[in-house]
Amino acid sequence: MTNHDGGCLCGGLRFQVTAAPLDSGYCHCRMCQRNSGAPVVAWTTFPAASFAWMSGVPATFASSSHGQRQFCSNCGSYVLFRSTKSPAEVSVNTASFDNPGAYPPKKHIYTESRISWFHTDDDLPRHPGYE
Ligand SMILES: [Zn+2]
Ligand SMILES: [Zn+2]
Repeated sequence: MTNHDGGCLCGGLRFQVTAAPLDSGYCHCRMCQRNSGAPVVAWTTFPAASFAWMSGVPATFASSSHGQRQFCSNCGSYVLFRSTKSPAEVSVNTASFDNPGAYPPKKHIYTESRISWFHTDDDLPRHPGYE
């Protein structure tokens, strides 16, 4: 296990990153909630050129005019977010890493749609929208 590898629940999709993260956080937006079925998605952003699928071919869902969510077509795990607004970056769902503890979130975004019963015990910056 390294800090650079990860994959989906069934193991069909495996990925690797080769650069240090650019940013990280918790996303409370409704699209992440619907897509994951979880109250929040922790994400870590990397240079797109440093990310590679090592096995499997992801399915892609266009969740908005600019956003694409990539997931395993076998087990359904949501793994990666890409945006045509920032093509040089990809956001990996942090919990998809083999060692998710390596990438602690640094902020909260889209807290305007935070579910009222969901709280985290931290002093990280909170942004109602993207930032
Ligand atoms: Zn899978
Ligand atoms: Zn989101």
